[in-house]
Amino acid sequence: MRFTIRLGISLLSLFGSSASISSPPPSKRQQQQQVVIMAYNNNNPLPSTLLSYDAQLALDVAQNGDFGHDNVQISDDALRIHWTLDAPSLETAFTVVDHGNLLDPRDMPEPYFLGSDDQGKPKWHRYAASPFTTKPVASVRPAVDPLDNWEAFWEATHRVHYDPDWERSKEEPPVQICCGVARPTGKGSEVVVQGTGAPGGFVTVHDFLTTMHAYLMSRREDILEAMHMDLLRKRLGSEDIGSDTKLIVTPMTLMGVPSITVSTEKEWTRFNRVR
Ligand SMILES: [Zn+2]
Repeated sequence: MRFTIRLGISLLSLFGSSASISSPPPSKRQQQQQVVIMAYNNNNPLPSTLLSYDAQLALDVAQNGDFGHDNVQISDDALRIHWTLDAPSLETAFTVVDHGNLLDPRDMPEPYFLGSDDQGKPKWHRYAASPFTTKPVASVRPAVDPLDNWEAFWEATHRVHYDPDWERSKEEPPVQICCGVARPTGKGSEVVVQGTGAPGGFVTVHDFLTTMHAYLMSRREDILEAMHMDLLRKRLGSEDIGSDTKLIVTPMTLMGVPSITVSTEKEWTRFNRVR
């Protein structure tokens, strides 16, 4: 699996450490889901407060199966945000379009930032207060492509150098440096968005954008580095990455998990244009 389609790589990251070649122990996500499923199966009273996204998803899966239409996912309002990752300011990063993942020349983007009120407090598009998810949840921990796939990208690039025949056993300690580039161990995303929406403290669209935009900006260099190492990008003929490369963030629900993908503006335009 030296070359895997992006979805395949993304799915890897959903099930424990992204680059685990041996079968990994259950991830924190899987353990939490197991606890909720056990509580559900034992008919224990469920908590009256909002659940985390992961716990809500585990409940939904227990009730409706993996692909239940009613399973929690990212809301339509949240999917209407067009999101650029070039500057820290929330005022310039977002617009609201018909569908944030589609580039439709007929679209008339609405501003997300609506200026300031009399007290100088920023005003936002009405979708800012919308629930980020189809069922209200207390917190969301999204998967982040490419950060969560960075170590897998490193493996795909360098393993041919130190282990051309793929003969290393799982028991051998992993090679830490190749071609002078350190294995990006533990560089995946670790971020939880806490809800502030009333009532109950659900995660709003604005909660998600505020927390995630600041986090992604703080890791912009890592994101560019990981994208630079992504062989799939090269195979698709994408442009080289530089520190001033314009980036677009795309939220989506992948196998039930809230996920965000970062692409260059050029890639995004190339693959998301409505034809
Ligand atoms: Zn190498």
